[in-house]
Amino acid sequence: MIIGIDDTDSKNGMCTTYLCAVLVDKLREYGEVSIPRLVRLNPCIPFKTRGNGAVSFEIKVIPEKEGKVKELVKSRVSELSELQDEETNPGVVFIGDTALRAMSRGGSDKRNEHISKLKNFYETAVRDVLKIEHAYTLLSELHFDYFGLKKKRGLIGALAAASFLLVQKREPAYYDYTYELIAYRRKERWGTSRVIEEKSVWNADEATYPLIWDTVDLANKKLVLAPHSPCPVLFGIRGDSVDAINKAYKLIQAEPAEREMLFVTNQGTDSHLITYEEAKGTLHDHHSYILDGVIKSNPQTIEGGHVLFALTLALAENTEGRIECMAYEPTKGFRDIIRQLRIGDEVTVYGSFKNRTINLEKIKLRKLNVEVKSNPKCAKCGKRMESAGRAQGYRCKRCKTYSSEKEVQIVDREIDEGLYEVPPVARRHISKPLIRTYVNGGINNIHPSR
Ligand SMILES: [Zn+2]
Repeated sequence: MIIGIDDTDSKNGMCTTYLCAVLVDKLREYGEVSIPRLVRLNPCIPFKTRGNGAVSFEIKVIPEKEGKVKELVKSRVSELSELQDEETNPGVVFIGDTALRAMSRGGSDKRNEHISKLKNFYETAVRDVLKIEHAYTLLSELHFDYFGLKKKRGLIGALAAASFLLVQKREPAYYDYTYELIAYRRKERWGTSRVIEEKSVWNADEATYPLIWDTVDLANKKLVLAPHSPCPVLFGIRGDSVDAINKAYKLIQAEPAEREMLFVTNQGTDSHLITYEEAKGTLHDHHSYILDGVIKSNPQTIEGGHVLFALTLALAENTEGRIECMAYEPTKGFRDIIRQLRIGDEVTVYGSFKNRTINLEKIKLRKLNVEVKSNPKCAKCGKRMESAGRAQGYRCKRCKTYSSEKEVQIVDREIDEGLYEVPPVARRHISKPLIRTYVNGGINNIHPSR
């Protein structure tokens, strides 16, 4: 049986991954439990809880015990959820063996059709905005059992996380994935400041980077493995190798953990990004895009330290033409890259879209504009000529000389072409660190933030 859970936490406490860890540890009495999944949903959804993460796991349990397992899950979700918070609306989805078998009834075409609906649901939950009605429709069509509290909005994430696991079970490499090992605090310490030996984290990072990443932020000299909220998470170690994660975990000295749990996750994969082709020419708020364009205004630093430039989208059929791109103050040194851009640079921007503005997560400098055009110099007196009028060329009034063309100078740019990213302190859970592209033998010309 596959179980998906979402929306049990609030800004003030709990964490859906902790509830999952408690359940997984408990349910081992009833049958073998898989590595749980931690699925980050659309990071710019308007009504998210803290990290917008949902969880799922599979338990091998005999049919007679399915009822007992469901009861246990329901009671723990009811007991541990932050129900007093208006924004917490838990949902749980159960895909029992009977429902799984029923999905295949009608042959492999029918099964593939059902699987593709679940894939589509997961992908939409990560990249788009879903309504609770979408979840109800699919739950009822596939006869999945579910449980919810209050507005039950968590059913969306619960079904998405269950779908992610179901797809991975059939095709492990269908979606890119990474790992996170999360250590949880003992209950008496919840809400107090975390005791983590800083030096040991730097050592653990040095011993395992780049197989683990986003543990520290080198440029900003900050640890990024621990949250600052009063939730039960002590810290999390993210990476591509379970061995490296375990090695790092052994090296980190911190307050005693209550328990640890390893998750397979869509963190660090860029699953939220939509290409312009996929967007079919229309951009919507609360979605994240990859867009090609040409810089239309030199970047300027505005109030608050944010850096802004205008971009003309490359695709001709696009009628919405121009958007703004913003490197926000928390992206720190990334802004220095942006400040070096200038009109005419051809770039690809990556980030979430709202009010016609892209919140930059990454940028690819495809072709830097190395030409500086200025009015030609007069051959006699050496002074810059003046414009003789629109499309009329240039002249020197004093010497009566004339030139039809602007003078083009080739300048050195102090920045290289290639892909740049925000530092770990400013990275969304779901955004792919460029170092993963390196390790996996990907494209050239990338400039990881360290
Ligand atoms: Zn002159």
